[in-house]
Amino acid sequence: MEQLISLCKRRGFIFQGSEIYGGLAGTWDYGPLGSELKRNIQNAWWKMFVTDREDMYGVDAAILMNQNVWKASGHVGGFVDPLVEDLVTKKRYRADHILEQNNINPLGMNLDDMSKAISDNGIKSPDGNVFGEVRTFNMMFHTNVGAIQDETSISYLRPETAQGMFVNFKNVVDSLHPKLPFGLGQIGKAFRNEIAPRDFVFRSREFEQMEIEYFVKEQDWEGRFSDWINSMYEWMDLVGIPRSSVHELEVAKEDLAHYSKRTMDFEFDFPFGRKELYGLAYRTNFDLNNHAEASKVGLYVVDDETSEKVVPHCIEPTFGLDRTILAVLASAYHEEGEGDDKRIVLKLKPSIAPYKVCVSPLLRNKPELMDKARALHSAMKKVFGNVTWDDNGNIGKRYRRQDEIGTPYCIVVDFDTLGENTDLLDTVTVRDRDTGTQERVAISNLEQFLKEKMQ
Ligand code: ATP
Repeated sequence: MEQLISLCKRRGFIFQGSEIYGGLAGTWDYGPLGSELKRNIQNAWWKMFVTDREDMYGVDAAILMNQNVWKASGHVGGFVDPLVEDLVTKKRYRADHILEQNNINPLGMNLDDMSKAISDNGIKSPDGNVFGEVRTFNMMFHTNVGAIQDETSISYLRPETAQGMFVNFKNVVDSLHPKLPFGLGQIGKAFRNEIAPRDFVFRSREFEQMEIEYFVKEQDWEGRFSDWINSMYEWMDLVGIPRSSVHELEVAKEDLAHYSKRTMDFEFDFPFGRKELYGLAYRTNFDLNNHAEASKVGLYVVDDETSEKVVPHCIEPTFGLDRTILAVLASAYHEEGEGDDKRIVLKLKPSIAPYKVCVSPLLRNKPELMDKARALHSAMKKVFGNVTWDDNGNIGKRYRRQDEIGTPYCIVVDFDTLGENTDLLDTVTVRDRDTGTQERVAISNLEQFLKEKMQ
């Protein structure tokens, strides 16, 4: 994990938030390469789950919403984590995490059970002090909207993107008239005042979610739930999260939220342990019913066959974007070779790699090589978008630098390209990141050659 974090900082993927001011706990900034990787993943998700499908509709709802949304959804009353405080240092911890660290399973425990388990087992804080009673802590950040700060102006930074879709259900039904089953998809920021942010971008206070609310007829939910399990694995294949590192955790009946009939977590073997990557939940028609009741606006579709009003049931696949990035980076990170031959390589899927190609002249001080390479660089940029340039140091070092950031192909313009060996005029070497092999390819064939390789 330390090597990965250091690579992320050194090469411009992810920085500590507000770093020059000493940081702000639980916030991270994506740098030039990280934001490219993030955008590629977002675009791949949007394409796979929204634009490539006929039953999906995208939305992009406001982060600030009417406070009644969060009352109806249950977040004002219940979006809480169990908090326990070191009575001496006043440092706060997640009580369930403290129990897990002491090999006690907190699932199904209420606050009293947790307090009792902590005291009965003599569990002390990491600083060796006694803990107080376990109590709840609401994780929503609140703010006031407008110039007047009173009860009525309270709003929250959304702790999930899901509610933005439920409250737009009627708008989409009235404007696009979708038929069941259909879904809404959204990518956006979510904010949670996590008691103990940790493990790099895994648990932050500001993060991004890619979520789907998929509406079905009640009797169809089981089949659709299985379809979503398959689609979620296909997504992991697409971005390079190996299925062998993913484990399904069926949430036990007694631990399900009261509105859920089935919830499955997809856990990933992160470098710091097996933890939740994604979730899939069958939420019945709880959310639409609650919002309909609270807002007094009917949230339903009209069944074509029976002309009856139906409140659809909902299946929710949820994907944390930052956890995706971490899982993708951890899966792609490899160290190979020994001594001087040692290299770090990020074996990212070409479709999500920050740079698709790097173009280099063999030598920097030869104008003919530079001109030819520059022209090729611009041509490649037109085709592949993000193509980088490197003319620094020797070729071996340049390859190492590109390996480390996951650039799948390096193209070198050399004297043969210029026609020193007439057979090789207008050809370049293309070096493959994963195998290290080089091939000579005609510039006229380069686009097709690379496109085939990147499939
Ligand atoms: P956890 O149990 O790890 O706190 P959760 O069950 O509360 O997660 P959900 O409410 O299901 O998480 O959120 C949906 C997804 O959003 C998660 O599967 C995860 O990928 C992501 N996510 C949740 N909390 C965070 C966070 N603090 N930082 C980064 N990503 C998060």
